[in-house]
Amino acid sequence: MSLANGRHTLAIPGPSVMPDRVLQAMHRPAPNIYTGALVELAATLVPDLKTVAQTRHDVAMYIGNGHAAWEAALANVLAPGDEVLVPATGNFSHGWAGMAERMGIGTRLIDFGKRQALDPARVAEALDADKERRIKAVLCVQTDTATSVKSDVAALSAAMKATGHPALLMVDCIACLGCDEMRMDDWGVDVMVAGCQKGLMTPPGMAFVFFNPRAAERRAAMAQVSSYWDWVPRANPEQFYQYWCGTAPTHHLYGLREALDMIVHEEGIEAVWARHQALAGAVWAAFEAWEKDGPLELNVRDRAIRSTAVTSLRIGAPTGTELRTWLTEAAGVTLGIGLGMATEEDPKSDGFFRVGHMGHLNTHMLMGTLGAIQAGLDALGIAHGAGGLEAAAKACAAGS
Ligand SMILES: *Cc1c(COP(=O)(O)O)cnc(C)c1O
Repeated sequence: MSLANGRHTLAIPGPSVMPDRVLQAMHRPAPNIYTGALVELAATLVPDLKTVAQTRHDVAMYIGNGHAAWEAALANVLAPGDEVLVPATGNFSHGWAGMAERMGIGTRLIDFGKRQALDPARVAEALDADKERRIKAVLCVQTDTATSVKSDVAALSAAMKATGHPALLMVDCIACLGCDEMRMDDWGVDVMVAGCQKGLMTPPGMAFVFFNPRAAERRAAMAQVSSYWDWVPRANPEQFYQYWCGTAPTHHLYGLREALDMIVHEEGIEAVWARHQALAGAVWAAFEAWEKDGPLELNVRDRAIRSTAVTSLRIGAPTGTELRTWLTEAAGVTLGIGLGMATEEDPKSDGFFRVGHMGHLNTHMLMGTLGAIQAGLDALGIAHGAGGLEAAAKACAAGS
């Protein structure tokens, strides 16, 4: 006998739950990629992607995952020998910085650890000290998916502008585009990267690089950019082929079209952000009650710097892995692993787990996951404070 039978729930921070409508839109024979409906469909994605990013400027689409978006963005505005400043708030800043290094770009890291947002003043200080203007860009991760720390991109941008330093502001929104608020133009973001498999509810395989005129100017001054990564033809294609530098990601286009219909044309991007905020509030309410007793602890203390897309928890090794395993095997819900939290005592991050709450998510789905976590805490005899589910239900009621 198992209570795990029934529809399995994936509550990891990407890939996220795909709406049945998205899957159904993709379930069709191969289309013609030279003329016809698919060619017209691709052009309709562009304005909707810009709405999601809140930009009037350009977007280039790629076949690829988030790492492809990282490399594409770097390749268009940075050359070997250039330097970037990386204020790190967890795992993914280090990943992006490492990729820059492999491309011959020098990196200066300011490490804010795993539990705090970046401090714009420290970034401004580093830019002020760079009298020779060697730093060409600041690489910021809005939501670090490992730590669930969210940084204030608008404040970072304002602090950068106040220095008069010309470095571009490049932001990774791969975890949180379509979840956490992002106003690319209002916030003065020059380059923004995202993928389709998290907030955008589409199977992994499409990556996006948004860029403004300041970034386009930098691109124009580059001595060379590889033909695959070059964003120029992708942002202003004369033929359908140029969007992709080859064959289109045919079925992803149908899936993404459906997802953008849901996000932009049915729910509305502001309402999508508000839904994420309300549901994240329910997650926080539950864990804030549970953490009052026993080993469980939210990784990020301050609500203002918690992502609305993912929540990272500390519970001590090996309990994190035991709880996740129990939930998958006995309750039918898969939570995210601890990522990038390894220490000498806990080399595999077994003392951590994450709850993804991004994209296609409602009260029913979230309360189901939280209820299963409560069952897991009870089943494994893990001490915890009372009233987590009550608090979550109240938060959903208040946010509705
Ligand atoms: C998921 C993620 C990435 C990497 O995306 P992949 O699709 O796995 O390559 C990078 N940055 C952030 C913030 C992410 O959440």
